[in-house]
Amino acid sequence: MTHRDAIYADISAERDSQDAKWGPQTHSLPVWNAILAEECGEVAEAALTVAFHGEEGHLDHLREELIQVAAVAVHIIEKLDSGDWVRGV
Ligand SMILES: [Mg+2]
Repeated sequence: MTHRDAIYADISAERDSQDAKWGPQTHSLPVWNAILAEECGEVAEAALTVAFHGEEGHLDHLREELIQVAAVAVHIIEKLDSGDWVRGV
């Protein structure tokens, strides 16, 4: 398994975790964008924590947040590909 394969495996596991946590989700694209933006905000917060408080322990959290962003993006792509999204707002 390459490093990239390991990353994709982490993203896939996070996708499964999000499904288990939230159940089936069908949203409009603006709502999906808000969910993705919320996750991106958590990445920004984690990156600032690393910048201002050092790397110890915080890099793992930053990586987790990045995996969550990627998993949400994959989820949106799945919805676009399947057509299972709400038109409008
Ligand atoms: Mg997050």
